[in-house]
Amino acid sequence: DAEWPRPDRCRVITIANQKGGVGKTTTSVNLAASLAMHGAKVLVVDLDPQGNASTALGVEHHADVPSIYDVLIEDLPLQEIVVSAPDIPNLHCAPANLNLAGAEIELVSKVARESRLRRAMDRYDTEQFDYVLIDCPPSLGLLTVNALVGGNELLIPIQCEYYALEGLGQLIRTVDLVKAHLNPGLNVSTILLTMYDARTRLAAQVAEDVRNHFGDVVLNTVIPRSVRVSEAPSYGQSVMTYDPGSSGALAYSEAASEMAFRGAPE
Ligand code: ADP
Ligand code: MG
Repeated sequence: DAEWPRPDRCRVITIANQKGGVGKTTTSVNLAASLAMHGAKVLVVDLDPQGNASTALGVEHHADVPSIYDVLIEDLPLQEIVVSAPDIPNLHCAPANLNLAGAEIELVSKVARESRLRRAMDRYDTEQFDYVLIDCPPSLGLLTVNALVGGNELLIPIQCEYYALEGLGQLIRTVDLVKAHLNPGLNVSTILLTMYDARTRLAAQVAEDVRNHFGDVVLNTVIPRSVRVSEAPSYGQSVMTYDPGSSGALAYSEAASEMAFRGAPE
């Protein structure tokens, strides 16, 4: 495959939406895999106690594996937990496991509780990567706030269904607060429409509403609903290696290419 342009500086992209099941993890894993397959060095930071991104990348994350919990709570250096994903060269993962479920509470009493991920990344040489993608849990708690403070860019996956826009106002308000007080460098750079069902008028309507509301930050590429995308994680793979010719893999590759060619926001 051809190489795509690589950013001059590491792009740290937070993938957030407090709604569950909208495709955050699927998007994190498959964009990361696509970018790595086109020559970029990529790190996925799994910030969800479910550890779904770790599972989908085929990375061990049982309770004894050093994980992002130890980084956030015990000050373990990131380099102690980052591992290579087995299938794709240049793709790495900072895994999460269920220990992280406690972190939401434990962080409350920590010093600089909103900035612990940022601090860990600053101490680690993140510039060795072209992209760091942070997969968030389905809430606007301290884990997601840490991801927003740690990122330069926010990517919001939006599922093309009736309630898609509900809750986005709350996410944007959180982003504005983080920008005002903790991370002025944060940009809502990308919106990706996911699980698009071309047979329904509703999906087309939602996609149009999102484009009218958010304009250019919405990628032209839309991710279709595809069984292959949902099967891949159970094989510990991204759909990019599980079934590279499937509609889902082609769409994620196209979306990743759009992001690479657009580059980081000004
Ligand atoms: P989130 O991380 O936002 O909770 P996930 O990425 O885990 O969402 O996706 C929710 C569910 O939908 C998962 O079972 C996933 O496999 C499935 N899924 C995600 N994207 C697609 C798609 N394009 N086609 C079919 N199933 C999908
Ligand atoms: Mg998830």
